Amino acid sequence: MSFSSLGLSEALLKAIDKQGYTTPSPIQQKAIPLILEGKDVLASAQTGTGKTAGFTLPMLQILSQGQKLRQRPIRALILTPTRELAAQVHNNVKSYSEFLDIRSAVVFGGVNQRPQVATIRNGVDILIATPGRLIDLNSQGLLSLAKIEILVLDEADRMLDMGFLRDIKRIIGLMPTRRQNLLFSATFSKEIKNLAGEFLHQPVLVEATPENTTVDAIEQKIYRVAKAKKTDLIIKLISDGNWKQVLVFNRTKHGANKLCKKMVSAGISASAIHGNKSQGARTKALAGFKNGSVRVLVATDIAARGLDIPLLPHVVNFELPNISEDYVHRIGRTGRAGASGEAISLVSADETTYLRDIEKLVGLKIPVSIVEGFEPDPNASTKPVKQGQGGGRREQSSNKPKSQGSRRSDDSGNSGNNRNKNRNRGGNRR
Ligand code: AMP
Repeated sequence: MSFSSLGLSEALLKAIDKQGYTTPSPIQQKAIPLILEGKDVLASAQTGTGKTAGFTLPMLQILSQGQKLRQRPIRALILTPTRELAAQVHNNVKSYSEFLDIRSAVVFGGVNQRPQVATIRNGVDILIATPGRLIDLNSQGLLSLAKIEILVLDEADRMLDMGFLRDIKRIIGLMPTRRQNLLFSATFSKEIKNLAGEFLHQPVLVEATPENTTVDAIEQKIYRVAKAKKTDLIIKLISDGNWKQVLVFNRTKHGANKLCKKMVSAGISASAIHGNKSQGARTKALAGFKNGSVRVLVATDIAARGLDIPLLPHVVNFELPNISEDYVHRIGRTGRAGASGEAISLVSADETTYLRDIEKLVGLKIPVSIVEGFEPDPNASTKPVKQGQGGGRREQSSNKPKSQGSRRSDDSGNSGNNRNKNRNRGGNRR
């Protein structure tokens, strides 16, 4: 199958060609024709499946065919859970719209709103946003969603996990009821199905991958290791393997900083990315990692969500996530768009329960290795670490808007209080 058989315009085909894509991915093959027909779509797609182009290409086609209004109101809104994902989606939108008369902009918290407002004033067709900043700008009367024709909820499961349900409902209330809705989610929980039931109009269900399965191209491995030896083991694996680009996951910001320092002391260039870092530092760390000047990026789950680093060869779980779905998201950073990759997890005794839950979720037994000199501690307890233990601090953003009182703040500089309760099991210290 080719992109031209999907009914996309010459201008879009030219942009696709420029990206070097030759064949539409399964999610693109299924979703693009349905979206072009104007249908609401509920799509299950993991990161790395090409879902962004899956909704952006048909959106661009619809918007460029539509009537041009003199004042350029915002006609399409893409909501994302994190700033990084918003920035990344915006980059994709810009690339795919290069040969079209379509303007786009991105707004998210943690940075000065002035340039964002100035861009919107000039008129944009597509706005990519995280919920908090969007609501903020709307409350100040600086943007209107009254002319939205297409709404995309990207990584909707994550938005719910981050407590954005109330914000999403509020944002939807600012839009016309007649519009096309596209909901993308890596997992289909009951909450996602409820959200879809509430906001989507006779949606067509598109499943590019079975629920909660890990991408086949990713080779998964477990190293059983004593907790105290994890740092030395990861340094050894990176050095011996001569790994050039490694994304390492940590459950806590504190742990991420500590590990990053140890890497640097061991002569491995590393940066940390988490919710306590300023947006500038986060952007710089990611850019360094992408251009190869930073070999190791140590990240927490929230900060790393949705990062698109092409052909990332190695992902290491320095600690397993206490939320099994996060494992699927983490290892989705490798083996992207058909490329192969390796996902390694360093597992100590107290993570045994997490490992069991993960294996149950992904439906496979992950092969286990032990490295000589880094054996697991046979006397260590298998009891999971509880919240507040282990030296980690829960990840919270310092950009909590004053107007929203005591609601939980999160990575996009916004707040929410609808966090899915069962995700707090075992401590949620990201
Ligand atoms: P996404 O799942 O949208 O984050 O996309 C994952 C990666 O796949 C991105 O780097 C895209 O540029 C790339 N990509 C998207 N569609 C295709 C395609 N049809 N062929 C090759 N690469 C693609």
